[in-house]
Amino acid sequence: MNDIFDKIISREIPADIVYEDDMTIAFLDIRPVRKGHTLIVPKKECENIFDADPAVLAAMTITAQKIARAIMHTTEAKGVNLIMNNGHEAGQEVPHAHMHIIPRFARSEAFNPPVHETYEDGESAVLAGHIKTAIA
Ligand code: AMP
Repeated sequence: MNDIFDKIISREIPADIVYEDDMTIAFLDIRPVRKGHTLIVPKKECENIFDADPAVLAAMTITAQKIARAIMHTTEAKGVNLIMNNGHEAGQEVPHAHMHIIPRFARSEAFNPPVHETYEDGESAVLAGHIKTAIA
């Protein structure tokens, strides 16, 4: 795979890199939702949460905490959203796992899912049971 994020990791294309360690790299999103919007990207090849090595996900989360604190300090944000789009239907555009850190400055900017569904009586317990059973 040699996707756009691989090219940033290998320095084939430029990016505003803010952090790098053995397993992860972090750089500013080129189309920020808010200024300071940063992407945490694993160096080891994986597409999203489904095929990622758990150690890679742990490393992404550890990096995300470092970067979130630094963004809060630098931008004077009041909070951050951590978002990971997994799969085309979930909004994933780049087929290389990544986590978005988006600084937020006012409650009105908070990430809100646009619609909520309602469970029928007993439906949530059945679904929870199926999910429990499916956990590997
Ligand atoms: P997603 O929809 O979760 O796959 O998000 C992909 C993100 O990558 C988008 O927010 C893009 O703005 C961002 N992006 C794409 N190309 C670049 C690039 N060359 N440098 C920085 N961010 C990028």
